[in-house]
Amino acid sequence: MSKSLQAIRGMNDILPEQTPLWRYFEGTVARLLDNYGYKQIRMPIVEFTELFKRSIGEVTDIVEKEMYTFEDRNGDSLTLRPEGTAACVRAVLEHGLTGAGQPQKLWYIGPMFRHERPQKGRYRQFHQIGLEVFNIDGPDIDAELIVLTWRLWGLLGIRDAVKLELNSLGTSESRGRYKVALVEYLSAHLDKLDEDSQRRLKTNPLRVLDTKNADTQAVLVNAPKMADYLDDESRIHFEGLKARLEAAGIPFEINTKLVRGLDYYSKTVFEWVTDKLGAQGTVCAGGRYDGLVEQMGGKPTTGVGFAMGIERLILLLETLEKVPEEISRQVDVYLCAFGEAAELAALALSEKVRDQLPNLRLQVNAGAGSFKSQFKKADKSGALYALILGDDELAQQVIGFKPLRGQGEQQNIAFDALAAHLATCVVQG
Ligand code: ATP
Ligand code: MG
Repeated sequence: MSKSLQAIRGMNDILPEQTPLWRYFEGTVARLLDNYGYKQIRMPIVEFTELFKRSIGEVTDIVEKEMYTFEDRNGDSLTLRPEGTAACVRAVLEHGLTGAGQPQKLWYIGPMFRHERPQKGRYRQFHQIGLEVFNIDGPDIDAELIVLTWRLWGLLGIRDAVKLELNSLGTSESRGRYKVALVEYLSAHLDKLDEDSQRRLKTNPLRVLDTKNADTQAVLVNAPKMADYLDDESRIHFEGLKARLEAAGIPFEINTKLVRGLDYYSKTVFEWVTDKLGAQGTVCAGGRYDGLVEQMGGKPTTGVGFAMGIERLILLLETLEKVPEEISRQVDVYLCAFGEAAELAALALSEKVRDQLPNLRLQVNAGAGSFKSQFKKADKSGALYALILGDDELAQQVIGFKPLRGQGEQQNIAFDALAAHLATCVVQG
């Protein structure tokens, strides 16, 4: 195929054989968030470039080198969203959702775009489910965000494969004091830092903590620790969070090097990581961003949130073989009809059955075909039962009912009794 007719590298089709797992995952999360009282918000995929520069920060990987930015026909600079928080804050401000200190618990789902090097678990179009909470400033809500993800891992059967890492970045003042100490220390060891870290030391020194370079990591062993610079308010907040996680029985590890990529975090930051996916091990990440709304032109409004990467969680479910068997079966009953008269009767009958059993997954054969070919399609559909309607059955106003997966004998069922009979043998979702 010519290159222009192929998908863009790092942007994937999600094929019919994969969508059941996506829908299972998305449905599980949506139900969970409903139950915890979160409301869904949907934002556009494209925003003014300025929004991301202002919120994410100019000297971050995303803004420096990962954004899909283009000029539209009006000459405006637009960007495909690389993450959801900026647009969510923009929407909240634009519609006054947090006016007068009103709390909001929001979530969103959708594609994000970053020009990164595509590899397993890292794509250029990927999907996130994100949560953002506004105007609730205590550690109780930080804990709730973590507790509900822990419940999600339980529902998905992956608790054993993920681990919670936690840190506090303090307020911007305490972080400022820490930065000074860190820069002073690292400057004294400048020659031992890798090139990236030397550059970051000037632009975004906390990001040096995040380095993968072994020599720089060795220098960091004796570097000043953020925990020693925490202000009282942040320390009490952090203690409150830890106490709640302990009360909920959620194991965690403090990782003092956890800083997160974006500029806007304060106090709590956390990541759920797995060692089952190689280098792309973070499946969910977030934290508190109390200064962001104000930085974006709103009234002081606290915020805390996270985003999980759907592709990585899908990969994890597949790797751990935690894909529930029943989700791949999408048809309960397959109806085969032979001849024009039978087809007409089958249409009327199947619509009547759908009226009575709205959740039944009933596939009616389309495209006619011999007995053999329709039966083959019935079997391939994964259906549990086939219904068979030919001239003989039609004359008697009955339909043949045939178990396809070895549960009992074939029998004839009167048209009138069909819905009631199906209700007894098909578990309906
Ligand atoms: P990483 O360190 O892996 O690049 P990040 O810190 O850039 O992650 P966030 O901006 O916090 O990631 O996004 C939240 C989550 O979204 C990540 O933990 C990950 O699961 C997922 N994610 C981020 N970038 C990608 C990507 N390019 N492809 C697939 N998933 C991604
Ligand atoms: Mg990244």
